[in-house]
Amino acid sequence: MAIKHNNGIILTTVEEVLSWGRRNSLWPASVGLACCAIEMMHTAASRFDTDRLGIIFRGSPRQSDVLIVAGTVVNKVAPMLKLIYDQMPDPKWVISMGGCSSAGGPFPTYATLQGVDRIIPVDVYVPGCPPTPQALLWGIMELQKKIKAKKEGKLWEEIPVREVPTASRP
Ligand code: SF4
Repeated sequence: MAIKHNNGIILTTVEEVLSWGRRNSLWPASVGLACCAIEMMHTAASRFDTDRLGIIFRGSPRQSDVLIVAGTVVNKVAPMLKLIYDQMPDPKWVISMGGCSSAGGPFPTYATLQGVDRIIPVDVYVPGCPPTPQALLWGIMELQKKIKAKKEGKLWEEIPVREVPTASRP
């Protein structure tokens, strides 16, 4: 917690400063999988302008700390998505955007992963088909609250990741 004195001096902790910096400069990886990705792009464009919030999409997972899973995760793409997640440095977070990535959406089929949390840990689920840009912004703000709440002690947790399914064939 930051303590402000009357003479203008602010006392705080390194953990507080790191947490403040992390939650106010979230850099998502530019990964779009299906129609939800159009709304994600819309969120980053001029009308909603995530740049003003310090949210700047990156072209490399090495430079990203947030993975927004926007769209249908088919079994064939699941290993690539897991690889992108693994390439992101810690601490990192995941937002599941839309019904498809959260639970398979309207595709309860053999070819579709029924929830991305089967292969990577998810921090925030944003409902919708597709979620609106406002809904995605809500999800990002929920993530910022979560990062702030964890400022004391460990800033992230090691969550065992489930095995990546192999692509099935009919
Ligand atoms: Fe498309 Fe709806 Fe699935 Fe999003 S949740 S990828 S809009 S079908």
